[in-house]
Amino acid sequence: MDGDREVICPDCGAPMVLRETRKHPYGNGDPRKFFGCTNWPQCSGVHGAHPDGTPMGIPADQATRTARKEAHRAFDTYWKGRRWGRDEAYNWLAWKLGIDGDDCHIAMFDQAMCERVIEICTEGEDD
Ligand SMILES: [Zn+2]
Repeated sequence: MDGDREVICPDCGAPMVLRETRKHPYGNGDPRKFFGCTNWPQCSGVHGAHPDGTPMGIPADQATRTARKEAHRAFDTYWKGRRWGRDEAYNWLAWKLGIDGDDCHIAMFDQAMCERVIEICTEGEDD
């Protein structure tokens, strides 16, 4: 072991490998690194990575996945009720969370972030 942390797929428990995509480059134009499940395409588990290839946070456990589901539901309810487009909605959410739009993927949020999403999407309900 050279100190590398093994990343385990939060969905199926298989090891994850570092991959790159040109779809969502970093701000400097470099291809974005992420961890993909070795069971892909059977499993679509992904986890964010920093540009140096270290994992972003800790892959989700059951509680986090439940929180993500709830965050997704709160978010979808919020923006669909406003007839926004998906991009518009995600830009709004990124702005509310104070993060980069490129990093705004509920599937990559940790539990605390999901709780903020739920808070943000339910606090405006009285307007
Ligand atoms: Zn998997």
